[in-house]
Amino acid sequence: MMNRIKILKAALALAVVAYLPLNANAWGMLGHRIVGQVAESHLSSRALKGVKSVLGYESLAMASNWGDFIKSDPAYDYLYTWHFVNLPGGLDKQGIFDLLDQEQAPNVYNKIPEMIKILKDKQSTSDQKVQAMRLLVHMVGDLNQPMHTARKEDLGGNKVTVTWFGEKSNLHRVWDEALIDYQQLSYTEYARAIDHPSADQLSAWKNSTLKDFVYGSYLACNKIYAETKPDDRLSYKYNFQFVGLLNEQLLKGGICLANILNDIYK
Ligand SMILES: [Zn+2]
Repeated sequence: MMNRIKILKAALALAVVAYLPLNANAWGMLGHRIVGQVAESHLSSRALKGVKSVLGYESLAMASNWGDFIKSDPAYDYLYTWHFVNLPGGLDKQGIFDLLDQEQAPNVYNKIPEMIKILKDKQSTSDQKVQAMRLLVHMVGDLNQPMHTARKEDLGGNKVTVTWFGEKSNLHRVWDEALIDYQQLSYTEYARAIDHPSADQLSAWKNSTLKDFVYGSYLACNKIYAETKPDDRLSYKYNFQFVGLLNEQLLKGGICLANILNDIYK
């Protein structure tokens, strides 16, 4: 009996260890859904129709997490690096743009155009389009999560250990989930609460390229690194300090996705 319990405990520990790095790899469920929900309210009527022709009754919000769900299927292991792009610190805008142009290995930035191409291609099958749409929604969300454009040496903040209200966590996970969950809103409530861009923001973001959005995310991540140190004990003050930036990135993600979809179905 004792042995069986030991084996069970060991298996459980292994399962938890195996689960952690996978878990810490994207806006959580809410973040992705908020981005999808915000995008939907900025779609042209043609884009709304186009999305429906691909996803049917699956909303952008509900399609947005598939990119994480499939991590449980080894057949999709090749997608692992499609969720982020590692960028070194200390670069200016041109430096980031050059790096994005040069990078050949698959990342969240250089794979998005492939999804767009599949969705535009009349030869694509409906299955191919569904997968491309679900991945597109997911990846545009990730691209606007600042810690998905962060440093390679700490795995996008995964290695920066902090506590969140006394619980062990890391900088990546705080931005994927903890800070969003802390607001205690459903994704529809959240989208409604933040979807009020100023006229200036809207016109700036509507004229932004995908590279500009990466750079915006990079600037946000620089700010986060500057203000969060290893072993920091984060709680109320951190929320107060960063909830504005968090909401802006979620809103930008939604507008960025709407831009892309409005362009595909123009
Ligand atoms: Zn992801």
